[in-house]
Amino acid sequence: MNNNKNTDTIRLIGYWKSQFQMKLPHPINFIDSKWDQTEKNKVIAYIKNAPFLPAVAGGYSYCRLCNKEDNGCREQSDGYFIWSEGFLHYLEEHNVKPPKDFIDHCIKSPKAKKINLEQEVKIDTEWWKEQRGFETPESKYFLDPYEHTYPKFYSLELKNFNKNNLKLKYRKLLKDIAKELDMSVIEIHHNLTNSDKEFIVSEEDINHIEKIINKDLFLDIKRIKNIR
Ligand SMILES: [Zn+2]
Repeated sequence: MNNNKNTDTIRLIGYWKSQFQMKLPHPINFIDSKWDQTEKNKVIAYIKNAPFLPAVAGGYSYCRLCNKEDNGCREQSDGYFIWSEGFLHYLEEHNVKPPKDFIDHCIKSPKAKKINLEQEVKIDTEWWKEQRGFETPESKYFLDPYEHTYPKFYSLELKNFNKNNLKLKYRKLLKDIAKELDMSVIEIHHNLTNSDKEFIVSEEDINHIEKIINKDLFLDIKRIKNIR
């Protein structure tokens, strides 16, 4: 049954990693100087033609790859995808090649669906967050000019730890960390003993717990490289 409610999902694309949004993809990983020119031109033409959404006060975005500071502040959407105005610059100037889904969509050039902002619009951010690009010589060796602005992350690891010998000490440690990080004891224990996943904490968290852990005994803190 059609309840006549507009619940179209619009996919987010072209929003990039920053110090505030570490989980978004980085354009470095999408640079492809061998991108077919005809295909590129078609995608660019489609992007340029898409409607702009009514401006919202969000300030200008900056280019993650060069020194361009005023890289657009508006958003565009064809009713299927939504991207920021600055997305075009990455394609035109840096050969950033979007994921295939989006390229195919642009080449198909569907007629733009009007977005009714009065009605509920569902934005899918998950698809974009999962995109990690592809490896090209550019993506492999390009240095991220904003690397220094990202928050630093650390990985906590138990080392030479014998639960039975150190039961009380371990429980005390869990309790102290849990208190500082505002997490439950079970959660901390699970994170520390889960061998499939690293227990990643921010620099701020490390500052909170550094004073309460005994590094030499059984907890190790490793600086981890920022994930691209
Ligand atoms: Zn740029």
